[in-house]
Amino acid sequence: MTQNNALDSQWLIVSDLDGTLLDHYDYSHAPVDSLLRQLELQRVPVILNTSKTSAEIRELRRELHNHHPFISENGSAIFIPAGYFAEKPVNARESDGHWVIEPGFTRDRLLDYLRGDAQQFGAPYLSFATASTDDIVAATGLSAAQAQSAQQRSYSEPLLWRGSDEEREAFCRRAADAGLKTLQGGRFLHLLGPTDKGAATRTLLECYRRDRGIEYRLIAAGDSANDLDMLEVADIAVIVRAPDRAPPEIAATPQRRVLKSTEFGPAGWKEVIQPLFPSD
Ligand SMILES: [Mg+2]
Repeated sequence: MTQNNALDSQWLIVSDLDGTLLDHYDYSHAPVDSLLRQLELQRVPVILNTSKTSAEIRELRRELHNHHPFISENGSAIFIPAGYFAEKPVNARESDGHWVIEPGFTRDRLLDYLRGDAQQFGAPYLSFATASTDDIVAATGLSAAQAQSAQQRSYSEPLLWRGSDEEREAFCRRAADAGLKTLQGGRFLHLLGPTDKGAATRTLLECYRRDRGIEYRLIAAGDSANDLDMLEVADIAVIVRAPDRAPPEIAATPQRRVLKSTEFGPAGWKEVIQPLFPSD
C-alpha cells in the first residue's frame, strides 16, 4: 500500500488530546473520527501524547480504535503495546500488556517536593492530590468517572493556580532549581520530572526507526505551550487554534513547516491534516 500521496515519506502523527484532537469544552472527537479511520487504512500511526494519565488514554484509545503506542503525563511515560515492535526496547519494563519507558519521576517524589515547598512558601493552588473529585469536575467539566481516572496519576501533578503570576513564576524557578519541570497546559500548571512531550516523542520515534529500519518523518499537533517541545521536534508542526487563548508560537525553519488551523480543536486538526493525506 502506498503510504500517502501528498507526503512522499513514511509518516507518524503525534497529537495532543485536550483542545487538539478533543474539543476544549465537551471533549468530543466526532470531527476527526472518519479521518482517523482513513489514516489507519493508510498505515499512518497516530500517537496520543498528552498530560492525561494512562487510565484516561486507554479509555480514549478504545473509543478511537487506536492500537498504537501512547505517551502519558506530558512525556513522563511511553506505553508501547507488548509485541508492537519486534523487540522490547532495552530500557522498557513490562506492565499490564505494555512495554513502558519512564523518563519521568514518580508522583510520590513530586508530592514530597510539593509538601516541602508549601511549608516554606505556601500553596496558592489546588492540587489533584488534595482536590476532591467534585473539585476536579468543577475545574475541568469532566464527568465524575473521568475525573477519577484523571486522579490516577503516576508521574505528574496538575496544579490549578490560584495565586499571582509572580508567585507562579517563583514556584517554577524553585522547581527548576530542584531538577523538576513545570509545563503550562490549557487549564493546569503541571509539575513533573525532567522530561516533556518532545523528549518522549524523540525516544519513541527512535524505537520506530530502529524496529522498522526506515526513517520516519513526524507531524505533531497541539494547541498549548506544553505542546511546544513536541512541535519543535516535528517536520510539520500543526498549531490547532483554541477558542479561549492565543495559539502557541513556533517559527518555521528550512526543516520545519508550520501549519495553523483556522477552526478550533478537532475540526482544526481535520482541516490541516486531511489535505496532507488525500484518500485518492
Ligand atoms: Mg491541549
